[in-house]
Amino acid sequence: MEGLNVAAIDFAIALAALVVAVMVWRQRRTHSRHWGDEPAAITAAAPPQLKWLSAEQQARWQLQTQRFLHEKRFIGCAGLSLTEAHRRTIAGLACLLRLQQNALHEALFPMVREVLLYPDAFLVPPPRETVSEHGLELVDDAPDERIGEHAPGQVVLSWSDVEAALEGDSVNVVIHEFAHALDSENPDTEGAPPMADYRDWSAVMGQEFARLRRHRRPPVLDPYGAQSPAEFWCVVAEAFFQQPAALEKHHTALFRLLTAYFEITPAVGEHLAPTLPAA
Ligand SMILES: [Zn+2]
Repeated sequence: MEGLNVAAIDFAIALAALVVAVMVWRQRRTHSRHWGDEPAAITAAAPPQLKWLSAEQQARWQLQTQRFLHEKRFIGCAGLSLTEAHRRTIAGLACLLRLQQNALHEALFPMVREVLLYPDAFLVPPPRETVSEHGLELVDDAPDERIGEHAPGQVVLSWSDVEAALEGDSVNVVIHEFAHALDSENPDTEGAPPMADYRDWSAVMGQEFARLRRHRRPPVLDPYGAQSPAEFWCVVAEAFFQQPAALEKHHTALFRLLTAYFEITPAVGEHLAPTLPAA
């Protein structure tokens, strides 16, 4: 009788130990699922600029974003493990540039096949440039640090700078690099996306580009835009989406030109609010 009791107690202890072991194991599994190799503590964010859009434009944004995700390949670089949230956030920002009435019937960023995403700023090899006039090639071998780049077929981005743009930073690397991609669709122009009539565009952009080159401390536009007409267009597009009120105030003609081109009227009275969850 007593022997049996001891055996029953041993069995109960063994059973309890097994239950605890299973609980610990499940706990670990749960933890590793949520906190271990799941970098998607990131949730997909819809651009804060969506609230400027009409219901029709928001529907178009959804379609364009889906199309982008279907057509473009994403590659995580430097150890970034790519998630659906990364892809959807970037696609959503890029498609703000292509919400015009005709955009659904036109190619969507045909010059971009893939998007390379780094966790942070990345280094690129320096360009090989001949500096000396005596035929001696001097190469500055220090790599360049970048937060974004547009190369044939590719856009390269730093994720931490994508996040900064969503939080309202004046730099929007997605808008900037995809504006370059639009520019490259027409080899005969520099600093302009494809359009039927360039007359207004050339007049306003030319005047404002010259103004930025003269200005020592421009109030809105990044002085980087003074480098070339191509950089100017990308910097103006960034200002339109990130600081529309300041752009309207200091560069009214540019603001109107871009309102007409993008077919978007920013709500200039409002601050860019933190991001909404993506639908
Ligand atoms: Zn640029």
